[in-house]
Amino acid sequence: MKKILFIVLALAPVVWAFTAMSKRDMESSVGPTKNLPPHLQEAFAVDDFASLPEPGPSDWLSSHPERGQTYGQFLNSSPLKPGAQGRKFIYLQPLGNFPKEAPQMAVLQEFLAAYFYPMEVKLAKTLPVDESKIGNRVASFSGEKQWNATDLLNGLQRRVPRDAYVVMAVTMTDLYPSDEWNFVFGIARIKKRVGVFSFARYDVADQPQLALERAFKVISHETGHAFGIKHCIHFHCLMNGSNGLGETDRAPLHLCPACLRKIHWGLGFDPAERYRKIAGVLKAQKMNEQAEWFAARAGKTDPKK
Ligand SMILES: [Zn+2]
Ligand SMILES: [Zn+2]
Repeated sequence: MKKILFIVLALAPVVWAFTAMSKRDMESSVGPTKNLPPHLQEAFAVDDFASLPEPGPSDWLSSHPERGQTYGQFLNSSPLKPGAQGRKFIYLQPLGNFPKEAPQMAVLQEFLAAYFYPMEVKLAKTLPVDESKIGNRVASFSGEKQWNATDLLNGLQRRVPRDAYVVMAVTMTDLYPSDEWNFVFGIARIKKRVGVFSFARYDVADQPQLALERAFKVISHETGHAFGIKHCIHFHCLMNGSNGLGETDRAPLHLCPACLRKIHWGLGFDPAERYRKIAGVLKAQKMNEQAEWFAARAGKTDPKK
């Protein structure tokens, strides 16, 4: 038995082959919508959304052959409802120092609040990091300081507020999860409601606009996981897995209809209202092309149209 299992595991990455999703696959990942009001049917329609493009050899799906998660599978996973047991806030927790060109916490807070509307996002007071209490090192390949993310999570986990649905910590210091790793962009313990992410590799000094977009993507992707959403394979979607900055940059900032329906299950928003709020935040940050996409969706899903 052991031998058979070994062979199956050993063959899995080789026999896995990418097949593009058909419209039918995409529709079945969203699930039946015909009993929903017209504006929700419109919000969850697949026509305006692209399927996931074939991953390149170094992209996420080539090294992590995942099966995705339909809306039905999401419901069967008994995701925790936001607000249940009084856990009604997303906390944004800055750790350590931020240079002035770093993404502004208030802007990240505003973006998260729009993305997960009507959930409220609280900006926690910046926590200093005492390097005598956590693992840290100077990375030989970069000469930069790194913090042990596992130690940071252990500390955060002990102080999760009672009303927190999730605590998302962000830092400008590079992270590593354990000694054998070079670095990690971020890690999360969803069941313990904590995650920590670093913007150290986002090129904030030279490309602040791109750094902000990356921060928006990563923080909303990770918060999506906290809502019980697994990686998306049916569409080109914010919830696609990513192996690095290149793949993150190619991914869209929006959720596909299946992932949108998952957060809608927990939050019950009017999709047009949510799209308008996100468009407003993006426009204020001069991310005009992105803002236009969300504004157009707001128009298309407006119940009064
Ligand atoms: Zn992920
Ligand atoms: Zn998706």
